[in-house]
Amino acid sequence: MDFSRVTLSQDDQAFQDDLRACLAELVTDEVIRRDRETGENFDETVHLGLGERGLLAADFNDESAGGFSRLRRRMWELEIGRAHTPWFHWGTTAMVAHVVAKFADDQLAREVMPGVLSGHIRLCLGYTEPDGGSDVATCKTRAVRDGDGWIINGAKMFTSNAHNAQFVFLLTNTAPEAPKHQSLTMFLVPLDTPGIEIQGLRTIDGDRTNIVYYSDVRVDDRYRIGEINGGWTVMRVALDAEHGVMEQDSDGLQKIAMMSEHALLMAEAVDRTAAVVGATGPDGARRIDDEAVQYRLGRSVARMEAALSAPEMYGRVAIVATMREIAPELMDLLGTAGLLPAETPGAADDGAAEHVFRLSGPSGIYGGTLEVFRNMIATHALGLGKPNYSPPAQRVKA
Ligand SMILES: Cc1cc2nc3c(=O)[nH]c(=O)nc-3n(C[C@H](O)[C@H](O)[C@H](O)COP(=O)(O)OP(=O)(O)OC[C@H]3O[C@@H](n4cnc5c(N)ncnc54)[C@H](O)[C@@H]3O)c2cc1C
Repeated sequence: MDFSRVTLSQDDQAFQDDLRACLAELVTDEVIRRDRETGENFDETVHLGLGERGLLAADFNDESAGGFSRLRRRMWELEIGRAHTPWFHWGTTAMVAHVVAKFADDQLAREVMPGVLSGHIRLCLGYTEPDGGSDVATCKTRAVRDGDGWIINGAKMFTSNAHNAQFVFLLTNTAPEAPKHQSLTMFLVPLDTPGIEIQGLRTIDGDRTNIVYYSDVRVDDRYRIGEINGGWTVMRVALDAEHGVMEQDSDGLQKIAMMSEHALLMAEAVDRTAAVVGATGPDGARRIDDEAVQYRLGRSVARMEAALSAPEMYGRVAIVATMREIAPELMDLLGTAGLLPAETPGAADDGAAEHVFRLSGPSGIYGGTLEVFRNMIATHALGLGKPNYSPPAQRVKA
């Protein structure tokens, strides 16, 4: 890993300046305030604005296909996060669009891809069901063949941004009698199809997600992605992308881990806490002069730095685990006013630590729970074998 500072060429410096100006124009205080209120992690004006400037296409494509160079991609990812861009819907859209480009028939890809890159078509993930999401292959939502189409019935939990998307990448069961990994078929279902009902749901951090019901939803076979009962092959590609399974390069320019945008929020909260405890209070004292405060703040910074340096799946776990550990510590250092959320009069740090505290719960659930990631690390990276959750063997009495 190369940690040296990158010297920007004039062109790259101009790109960074333009990008910052573009984000400052699009991601206004009003956009951020509205996003906080709606919890949608999406803003259509911002999304279309970035699409119109060709930035969605540049992010989607490899450099060889006209996309960002590695350096510009790094700048793009950092600036998007720094600007607090409502952004998660692009993550699901791009992830599914890569799968569509790889597995869908040409006609469907031609129907969807231009709109994805312009920002007019958004795609969401319909995997999780009311009975469970970690083991997605236990899917119960049924798709039954009906002439040249399929009839879909079932329910999905947590289909984030379904209400802002045009298609859902839907996991269905097409062979309930078959072994679970041979029973799945994927569809890209238009969300304006009759029989689909979207119900909003808010989480503890204010995120808006959805329950989506499918009642006799008729979908043409051309919306199928991949083989019938071959959905697991398609899902694996999408899940690998979601889990951050990616090849690392040694130039230090790669996004180090999934959810590094969350790490930026954590870093802001640490900075703001440091500013508050370093300021002189009305009594003329600074809280930072108390050794206990120095120790607790220093320990939080050290933990955060360790999380920021952890790559791939390790980073995914370390970032969220550290958010969970240090957010209460920061709030404690801030005192009672640290409990107040953003834009509340009297909030110690404008709610930064409080937000990280609430965000850290769901962040360790979506895209795979921390426990599941820890098991993946144990199994695939450390070679410890699969965990065994069976009850302890009965002792046989002599
Ligand atoms: C804000 C938010 C947005 C989301 N957005 C989407 C979305 O857009 N699309 C979508 O399809 N899903 C989405 N999800 C769902 C998310 O992917 C699931 O919540 C997650 O996969 C966990 O599934 P579950 O909630 O059903 O918990 P379960 O799978 O029922 O797990 C319950 C508990 O058991 C533990 N557990 C389960 N299996 C194992 C195991 N093998 N080893 C160790 N522990 C285990 C879990 O860690 C957890 O603590 C979202 C969730 C949230 C909170």
